[in-house]
Amino acid sequence: MERFLYKSNNSGNYNLIMAYPAIESFAMASLGYLWLYKIADTTEGINANRYYTNSTNNLNIKAIDSIAFSMSFDFDFLGVFTILEKLKIPLYSSKRNNNSPLIFAGGPVLTTNPRPYEAFFDFMIIGDGEENFPKILDILKQKKDKDTTLSLLSEIEGVYIPNNPTKKASVNLNNIIYTPIISDKSYFKDTFIIELARGCMNRCAFCTASYTNLPFRVNDFSKIIETIDMGLEYTDKIALLGAQIASHPQFNEIMMYLRNKMEAGKTIELGISSLRTDSITPETIQTLVMGGQKHSTIAIEAASEHLRKFINKNLKEDQILNAIKISRENGLKGIKIYSMLGIPNETDADIEEFIRLGNLIKKENKGFNIEFSFSSFVPKPHTPLQWSKREDTKSLEKKQKYIQKELAKIGIQSKFSSIKWDFWQTVLSRGGVELAPFLVEVYKNGGNLSAFKKAQKDLKLDFSKELNGSELLEAEVPWDIIEFYPTKQLLINEYNRLYRNYSKLY
Ligand code: SF4
Repeated sequence: MERFLYKSNNSGNYNLIMAYPAIESFAMASLGYLWLYKIADTTEGINANRYYTNSTNNLNIKAIDSIAFSMSFDFDFLGVFTILEKLKIPLYSSKRNNNSPLIFAGGPVLTTNPRPYEAFFDFMIIGDGEENFPKILDILKQKKDKDTTLSLLSEIEGVYIPNNPTKKASVNLNNIIYTPIISDKSYFKDTFIIELARGCMNRCAFCTASYTNLPFRVNDFSKIIETIDMGLEYTDKIALLGAQIASHPQFNEIMMYLRNKMEAGKTIELGISSLRTDSITPETIQTLVMGGQKHSTIAIEAASEHLRKFINKNLKEDQILNAIKISRENGLKGIKIYSMLGIPNETDADIEEFIRLGNLIKKENKGFNIEFSFSSFVPKPHTPLQWSKREDTKSLEKKQKYIQKELAKIGIQSKFSSIKWDFWQTVLSRGGVELAPFLVEVYKNGGNLSAFKKAQKDLKLDFSKELNGSELLEAEVPWDIIEFYPTKQLLINEYNRLYRNYSKLY
């Protein structure tokens, strides 16, 4: 069942499909996708419909004016191609004619680097979409010819017409974004999700959630409370969202507000996206436990302090141990400790640090469920480590095996993201327009790991540029076409500062 928190206006004659490149449960859990759908669904003149990779309804393609995709994950291009193929629409925009629907997209993947995907879209939205989307819809519904429409759209900040420089859009968070449709089919079943803050002020050197969302912005406290109350009229399940919500200046008051409600007898199932290790308090943990949470996650990124310092994650070991102690003493059953392998400058001694830290945590927290969770470092555009080398797969797998074995010996479970998928994520992240035929080939071959390998072999592609990065910081990179804050010069300064400071430590 779906509960709408707004009044739909499904009456226009401009037919827009809001497509999500994955199954319905993921679409209904995506705040950005749902919010833009709500904008379309309440815009006069627009008839908006949702569509997923598992949708079975037949669409009359001749009646569709445009299709908007939301791309949140690097491999979402597979879902985009699945939907286009299902609708019998050519993948390449150059193969579509003036009668084809306009195909466009937005989302974090494109904000980070739109270049590998630009052969498939007529235009893309770079940065925040909630303010420029209504302007885009106003132009679309005029139903002018394709060239005129694209020329009008090019005037909007954040609209990227392939190969034409543009500037990332960034809004002031005048309105709070929340789940406008609460669905029992969502991956977060029947949950009301509300955004407290956008981005993160910590600027860890690898982090796109921080760097592509600068400046860090927070929602107004009283509006948050009003919106929470509104959401609680529809459901008991609430999730607070943001890359670092604990950085909201009134985070403790928000948690206290929810706690007071629970203490007064209101049932609330509470989830939060992340906890900042250095700001965990007994009250926060108690409120989460009251809201039904049993486990929590902290991100330490590296076990050795100097490596954390290098990536600007200025977290002391004492703070990590203290966060775990507070979590244990205030009712959680366990904690997941998230970290990365393959951070530039990582040595064997840094790998040993995981075992030492694991031992220490285990000794201090008997009976508490400790799990380490690892991904491997993927250098991302618009971060100070965008030029860094991706570590070789074999060497990462060797580290993974060793850590898994040694942590198991002390009774700590460890989980790892797929190093092979992280490898391909690096290629996509730092790729340019030349990746287009490769993406199509991967899709045609089935989209699994062997499809990537086969496509690379068949097309005789060499990805050393994407994998090795470059020490020529000034050299042009594909995503330079987007004007960004922070600027490339600021990233260069930060890269130099990080490496300079690191060399002083050794
Ligand atoms: S604290 Fe977390 S969200 Fe913030 S910059 Fe660091 S890794 Fe990113």
